[in-house]
Amino acid sequence: MYDRLLAHYGPQGWWPGDGPFETIVGAILTQNTAWTNAARAIDNLKAAGAMSAAALRAMPEEALAEVVRPSGYFNAKARKLKAMADFLGRYGDTIEPWRTMQPKTLRAELLAVHGIGPETADDIVLYVAGLPSFVMDVYTQRIVDRMLPRHGLRGYDAYQALFERHLPHEAPLFNEYHALLDAHAKDVCTKREPRCASCVLSDLCATGRRTVK
Ligand code: SF4
Repeated sequence: MYDRLLAHYGPQGWWPGDGPFETIVGAILTQNTAWTNAARAIDNLKAAGAMSAAALRAMPEEALAEVVRPSGYFNAKARKLKAMADFLGRYGDTIEPWRTMQPKTLRAELLAVHGIGPETADDIVLYVAGLPSFVMDVYTQRIVDRMLPRHGLRGYDAYQALFERHLPHEAPLFNEYHALLDAHAKDVCTKREPRCASCVLSDLCATGRRTVK
């Protein structure tokens, strides 16, 4: 799957963003919304001079909510951003110590931060700390469901384990693979009416084999 997706789409150059802190902020702001909305909130944060942990801690929560309004759920996201800024403060406002941590240890610490669920934690472990933790978003789950309709997997961690069990634990591979699956789900394996006839995975996929003659 990986080889075919890479050959078809090419390297995706993820994560979109300017540096580790902006990637953390983006991972929170893109929860339950399209990236375009998160990007508008990021632009607002930059314009307000608030793209740093110290600036987020200093800004009143209500004011921060207004700044990130374009991302939706802005009151909740303001609280999450402040919680993450506090967490980063425990590391001296630098992510450098994260790079040498065990991925599961960092993931567990992130999951204890207010508003950080498994997908956001994995985004940060992989795309900020550069450690191997496979990101399992709804796009990838949709592809898995269609390729292996009888998989019997339940919940985020079970889907994640399917990939982590069968791949070398290398951050560059996990990075590119997640981005490629995302591109594939948006372009071809779409929510409604997947375009199986033009899919590079059709012969590997139970749904594709059934529908492509
Ligand atoms: S063959 Fe169809 S269902 Fe299977 S991965 Fe491709 S687009 Fe999705």
